[in-house]
Amino acid sequence: MGSGDPIDLAPGAGRRPGGATATRPAVLTARDVHMRFGGAKALNGVALEIRSGEVHALLGANGAGKTTVLRTLSGLLTPRGGRVLLDGDDLAAVRVEDRVRRGLVQVPEGRSVVTELTVEENLQLGAWHVARGRVPGALDAVYARFPILAERRGLPAGSLSGGEQQMLAIGRALVTGPRIVLLDEPSMGLAPKVVDEVFAVVREIRAAGTAVLLVEQNARRALEAADHGYVLARGEVVTSGPADRLLADPEVVAAYLGLDDRDV
Ligand code: ATP
Repeated sequence: MGSGDPIDLAPGAGRRPGGATATRPAVLTARDVHMRFGGAKALNGVALEIRSGEVHALLGANGAGKTTVLRTLSGLLTPRGGRVLLDGDDLAAVRVEDRVRRGLVQVPEGRSVVTELTVEENLQLGAWHVARGRVPGALDAVYARFPILAERRGLPAGSLSGGEQQMLAIGRALVTGPRIVLLDEPSMGLAPKVVDEVFAVVREIRAAGTAVLLVEQNARRALEAADHGYVLARGEVVTSGPADRLLADPEVVAAYLGLDDRDV
């Protein structure tokens, strides 16, 4: 799916994950990525590889560098070393907006909708690079998935609940049919029912053949939704592997999953 084509979020609309997973080419690859803030090392040799229709979860304590990974991949930060590839193309010289055009979009932490603009205007912002005639179809696909946004399309985004604003932020990222979505803590601060809805959306994005890199405070839910996980500590990937293996790893459970048991 090229940028500019609205995503079809209907279950089963795209290629299903599984089966030929290992033979599919990677959508996004990071190799030996390094980042510094002044004298402080923020990322040290981060590597990851995500294929279409895969969800990868990035876990780690506060300050481990998770958001820095996402911002480095999306181009908001320039790495001090290493390579980031989208569909095999090196992104070093590709600006943020051109990464978006190519299908690499980030949903930042904190929803970041423009509260003074209407729901529809926010979605139009997400479709800034789509030919004008194609925008209504792109918006309709999002409204079909998120009927509450259709109902509220003329209202200021600031009047929506926290959960609705998160759906709007995700909808704005999906509006042009991305190849990969970087989701930063999408369930943060939301009621349990809304968290369920967020994870349902992640599953649907995956089923539609789009890749997801998910940073989540709720590590257990994230791994349950994921194909693969990474644990980041002090800017380094200290553990990675299939999500079901990490869910059963006693060290991962003790360090990151134990507290979640109280929530389930
Ligand atoms: P959290 O879960 O708290 O969001 P995180 O794992 O996403 O944490 P980052 O936000 O990536 O962590 O931060 C990693 C480290 O880099 C932290 O020590 C943070 O203080 C530092 N840092 C992040 N952004 C900047 C910046 N723009 N300038 C300087 N230091 C930064």
